[in-house]
Amino acid sequence: MKNRCLILILDMVAGHWDADITTPLTGLEPPNILGYVNAGKLPVFKECMEKGIFVNSWNMGICNTPHGQKYLASGTYKTKSEPGGNPYWKMINGLDSPTILSSCKLAYPQGKVAAFGSDAWMQSGWWKAPDCTMGWGSYFSDFLTSQHAFNWMQANPDWKMTLLYLAQYDKTGNCPLFKKDAAYTNDKHHSLLQLDKYLWQIKLFLEEMNWWDETWLFIGSDHGCHYGCDVAVAEGRKRGIPEQDLSNYCANHQEPYDCFSWDFKKNQSSGKRLDCARRTLFIISGGALDKTLHGQKISRGEIIDFAPTIASAMGIDFKADGKSLL
Ligand SMILES: [Zn+2]
Ligand SMILES: [Zn+2]
Repeated sequence: MKNRCLILILDMVAGHWDADITTPLTGLEPPNILGYVNAGKLPVFKECMEKGIFVNSWNMGICNTPHGQKYLASGTYKTKSEPGGNPYWKMINGLDSPTILSSCKLAYPQGKVAAFGSDAWMQSGWWKAPDCTMGWGSYFSDFLTSQHAFNWMQANPDWKMTLLYLAQYDKTGNCPLFKKDAAYTNDKHHSLLQLDKYLWQIKLFLEEMNWWDETWLFIGSDHGCHYGCDVAVAEGRKRGIPEQDLSNYCANHQEPYDCFSWDFKKNQSSGKRLDCARRTLFIISGGALDKTLHGQKISRGEIIDFAPTIASAMGIDFKADGKSLL
């Protein structure tokens, strides 16, 4: 089974930030993949980027999770089936855009396609897979979700595409950016370091099964989060966070998604656009990627380019509003 694909979706992970911004407590950029890789904090992400392509990716639609999952799965911002644009609607009538998972099955009827993650995105159809769909309640263990995916892949060595969605980082909305010795999901900094270990586990699994060389690894996220911006400061004040702690406070990813960086010294907006919630993750990696493309960076892409790029890598016929970046 040459040419397989593992799609890893990490909820709420910012792919990149503004390089001018460092946070007082860590001396690092706010938690984001590119900044932490450059600071030497995420060795496995670093390797995937060195042996892959990094896309500076943006969610230019609605930055909540239901819409983000839809954009990742379908490559389109538009919802055809319901005028109000409810991304859950696919569950009810099944009439919306095709997904990368269902299109993979059409292209390769013999190859198995499976999905593992939160029930909401499985039920709504965006990550419903033709051969096996396992969905759990919100924030079910990332560790156990991964183990279920690994078990299924071992039992079905003819798998063609596997979607693995890890939800627990999304619990780091409205929380401290840094807390000493914090456990997974109790602050953003340590949770991002933990995600590097989950990525290590996935990579090691593919290598030990001798699948790495023939597998595309696509890593994406649905939205980032507000930190160090006018929206995060306003939200923190609303929630009673003391003024001196606001520079360590990450708000969620609520509207407005267009925000401005905050000058903590002057205690005012800097007037410079930051748009934190729109900064999504998009990495193309895996042993199937041609080595001549290793280490490249694409300066701008969008969340709707994610599915079309997978489609072109896998040779799948796929219509979307986004474009392939390969
Ligand atoms: Zn989300
Ligand atoms: Zn923001």
